[in-house]
Amino acid sequence: MAHSRPSTIAIDGPAASGKTTLGGLLAERLGYLFFDTGVLYRAITWAAQGRGLNSSDEAALAALAAELKIDLEVPAVSDGRLYTVRVDGRDVTWEIRRAEVDREVSIVSAYPQVRRALLERQRAIAAGGRVVMAGRDIGTVVLPEAGLKIYLDASPEERARRRYLELRARGESADYQEILARMRQRDELDREREAAPLRPAPDAIVLFTDGLSIEETFAKVWALVENWRQRRGKIEVEEPG
Ligand code: C5P
Repeated sequence: MAHSRPSTIAIDGPAASGKTTLGGLLAERLGYLFFDTGVLYRAITWAAQGRGLNSSDEAALAALAAELKIDLEVPAVSDGRLYTVRVDGRDVTWEIRRAEVDREVSIVSAYPQVRRALLERQRAIAAGGRVVMAGRDIGTVVLPEAGLKIYLDASPEERARRRYLELRARGESADYQEILARMRQRDELDREREAAPLRPAPDAIVLFTDGLSIEETFAKVWALVENWRQRRGKIEVEEPG
């Protein structure tokens, strides 16, 4: 049966490129589930720190990734969160966004064993379709068959500026230069790693969002969703030649 909309949508891109905001809006408009996979890596990093695990202990981190109970829920509090994240029942939504987690998450996520432990979890979440999934390797590794793949990008300065404003809006202290430096470092680790590095899938649509508001970005992506069937038909006709 031909579908008029993609049943799975992958959104990848570097830190603070707007994946979560865009993904949340898309999922809301489509009535799909939104799943931000960065949460899994952040939750493991946070739990590892709490348990005093060494960030060089790949086997212990992978074991944690395999057994840690991580849940995403519809929020019952309105403090700017898109969803509530629970680790073993405890609300860690904001704790996993702290600088200590930012500093180590790309070390933890670079381990192949950790990624392997999380792969099936992510695929199981998307198995029923009607899902928008955001991350770094969704279009390339987790859901290579996704109906629509978006790769969101923006300059490091623009992304650091957005993150800075976001933190200030939440009443947290923020230093632009520090945010920029930390973000560049995290992007470099995510791009240079051997296992599932950050890069656009060959069939991803790359959107560079400097100078675009979230409404403008959403409008561009929505047009892709709406024209999806037409475009796919065209690709199918063109490809065999
Ligand atoms: O998206 P977010 O910034 O919350 O992701 C935190 C970190 O988790 C990333 O910097 C990256 O190291 C890791 N990550 C990943 N693969 C994903 C999602 C996140 O390696 N699919």
